[in-house]
Amino acid sequence: MTINATHINYYYVCKRKLWLFTNGINMEHTSDTVYDGKMLHETSYPQRNEKHSELSIEAVYDNISLFGKIDFYDAQQNIIHETKRSDKIEKAHEWQVKFYLWLLKLNGIEGATATLEYPLLRHTDHIALKEDDITQIHKTINDILQLKQSSQCPPVINAKICKSCSYYELCYVDEG
Ligand code: SF4
Repeated sequence: MTINATHINYYYVCKRKLWLFTNGINMEHTSDTVYDGKMLHETSYPQRNEKHSELSIEAVYDNISLFGKIDFYDAQQNIIHETKRSDKIEKAHEWQVKFYLWLLKLNGIEGATATLEYPLLRHTDHIALKEDDITQIHKTINDILQLKQSSQCPPVINAKICKSCSYYELCYVDEG
């Protein structure tokens, strides 16, 4: 199994979503969220496109393959720019970005930082990777692997976020 930023993001959003995804039930094609984020960045920060490049990055940790695709990486400044369409600041976004910073570190790129931008909120978070964060990422990865092996799909969470989740119909098919 390869762990990527989507696993990390889903871990913080909803364990059921993560379970469905790790078990190959992928409905993200019905959602434009990923594409949207990139488009939003390109329209919000057009001047950046020349000096930023897309970066696909891999690593191995404890015999586990890791992969991340960073949309905007400024190699000169050693900084990642991640843009979110969300009108809410979410922990999942922060950990997705920390996962990228960890991947850079595993590839020998030390001291990278990130900006997490919410143009709709006119808000920017500045993120650096601390030792405690790495410990938390290790735990997250172990939890993800355990969850994948579980035969039990976690229950629905009945949260506001469900309405915009690509699994909504699957989760609430009996309701309505
Ligand atoms: S609809 Fe809600 S409960 Fe179902 S996977 Fe999505 S976030 Fe989780």
